[in-house]
Amino acid sequence: MGSFADFHARSINDRDAFWAEQAKRVDWKVQPQQICDYSNPPFAKWFVGGETNLCHNAVDRHLAERADQPALIFVSTETNQEKTYTYRDLHAEVQRMAAILKDLGVVKGDRVLIYMPMIAEAAFAMLACARLGAIHSVVFGGFASHSLATRIEDASPKVIISADAGSRGGKGVPYKPLLDEAIKLSAHKPANVIMVDRQLVAFTPVAGRDVDYATERAKHMDTVVPCEWVESTHPSYTLYTSGTTGKPKGVQRDTGGYTVALASSIPHIYQGKPGGTFFCTSDIGWVVGHSYIIYGPLIGGMATILYEGLPIRPDGGIWWSLVEKYKVNVMFSAPTAIRVLKKQDPALLTKYDLSSLQALFLAGEPLDEPTAKWISEGLNGKAIIDNYWQTETGWPILTICNGVEKAESKFGSPGKAVYGYNVKLVDDQTGEELTGANQKGVLTIEGPLPPGNLQTIWGDDERFVKTYWKTVPGKLVYSTFDWAVRDEDGYFFILGRTDDVINVAGHRLGTREIEESISSHPNIAEVAVVGVADQLKGQVAMAFAIAKDTSGLTDAAARKTFEAEVMKVVDSQLGAVARPSRVLFVTALPKTRSGKLLRRAIQAVAEGRDPGDLTTMDDPAALQQIVDLIKT
Ligand code: AMP
Repeated sequence: MGSFADFHARSINDRDAFWAEQAKRVDWKVQPQQICDYSNPPFAKWFVGGETNLCHNAVDRHLAERADQPALIFVSTETNQEKTYTYRDLHAEVQRMAAILKDLGVVKGDRVLIYMPMIAEAAFAMLACARLGAIHSVVFGGFASHSLATRIEDASPKVIISADAGSRGGKGVPYKPLLDEAIKLSAHKPANVIMVDRQLVAFTPVAGRDVDYATERAKHMDTVVPCEWVESTHPSYTLYTSGTTGKPKGVQRDTGGYTVALASSIPHIYQGKPGGTFFCTSDIGWVVGHSYIIYGPLIGGMATILYEGLPIRPDGGIWWSLVEKYKVNVMFSAPTAIRVLKKQDPALLTKYDLSSLQALFLAGEPLDEPTAKWISEGLNGKAIIDNYWQTETGWPILTICNGVEKAESKFGSPGKAVYGYNVKLVDDQTGEELTGANQKGVLTIEGPLPPGNLQTIWGDDERFVKTYWKTVPGKLVYSTFDWAVRDEDGYFFILGRTDDVINVAGHRLGTREIEESISSHPNIAEVAVVGVADQLKGQVAMAFAIAKDTSGLTDAAARKTFEAEVMKVVDSQLGAVARPSRVLFVTALPKTRSGKLLRRAIQAVAEGRDPGDLTTMDDPAALQQIVDLIKT
């Protein structure tokens, strides 16, 4: 093992040689002629002239060595199903799905929208699209008609693949009525819908449009569908993500760059080995699901667990029981999930044999110190590794690359810039680079973005340039829209979104910083801080907190005392300037189904405004609580 600093430096200073070496980790039908073409910034083309196929690299190439090893392990605690597909089985299933798509006229470059729960067929669907060179667009199953309709309209799919229902807490959640409504709302109509009938919820197929998966599959048990070799720059998929405007952006990913980035990340970041097992608890509707439920582990020759269900059903030990049963080596989850587990019996963490587990990776939101410490202690000191990345990047920007050189994590920091990423902190006002320790700036990435990152926004190059590359004065750099500092050792600390910044009496404050401070109070389980308009100070911070033990908070006087106590913590840690004007106690916080706080909605209702689009919200009652609190 060499030094990480050298590894990273080479990825930037000797970029083409570095990535040419990484490109050897994947199979190419035609070798790339040029490693990176950055002649038209900020548009980067990786492995130009190369021809490859994502499905080939995830499935077919492993048949020679590991056809009978597990590839996909489907576990549903919703329907009590558990099934292991070997690489040979997966290869057969993917070809069956690909044959159905082919029958429906799907060819290279066509879009296929996937609106499915966490079932094995969703993985077959994604891989089948990749096999044909069709561009998939997975829409998270929790999205309702309106969100789905905007995505259908933007992606204009020839075919949609869906299912009768998802399931949550043992109850069927119908998908079909939402899909039918979305197609009605969308100006674009797909020619066909492939329906996987799980027989959870009855539905009526639309004649002439809907086809039954099981019936079609039966016709193609032995059909051979070869992989379509595509140019490295051919789009593999789009994935919609919301920004500051109402219209979601279709993040567009290439084929060759993405395959190489994931292939390289498995050993360097996750220390995954062929034949090992990867368990990522995300959903295929999110980027983490694309990269580390489906493509990454499979490209790496590992088995991947696709889990449908809650983390606490039948009890809070379910995930750890799977770690024991399937000898999971690499686990990947989100801090929110760990906070959910934190409320369960801690003995569940030590009930199972977790000796196979090397590390737990957490991503998607800031990993607060109390949560990190709790899980680290609970897992007897297993490595807990924070990953910082975005839908746009497809793989981590900041983390610890233990596969390159072992390094210590620092609580509260996702780590250092990952190889390939030329990360710079800049002053948002002047565009000046901040090179000193502990200076707060916007986290930006200098082009070319490394392989695997977004190529553009689907159908809108101009929006890609304008949104991401034109926000720092005088420079063409990619903005993450996150504030950060870097300490003297090169570790970054994320302080919150630049678009969530609050300004109290001329002082800029990250809501994240205040949340961290409040969370350090031993009786606070979770908190959201938002900036609320104030006539005197411009904005003030307002906190909505969940207490761990509510038994002493039964009356207004007790709540007031606790509020003052919490404010004192902020006073002492950050200064009175950061002290929230109010700390109000709630029993739940409004979040998206992926666990992200709906800060903007909280802020809106705290200011008495309309919260806007709430289609991604998990629990409407949580927001209502805040509405009611504000009124009183
Ligand atoms: P998404 O594209 O939905 O995954 O959201 C990406 C955003 O989530 C980032 O820009 C950050 O604001 C936040 N984020 C993701 N991972 C982390 C992390 N490990 N620590 C702090 N913030 C994170």
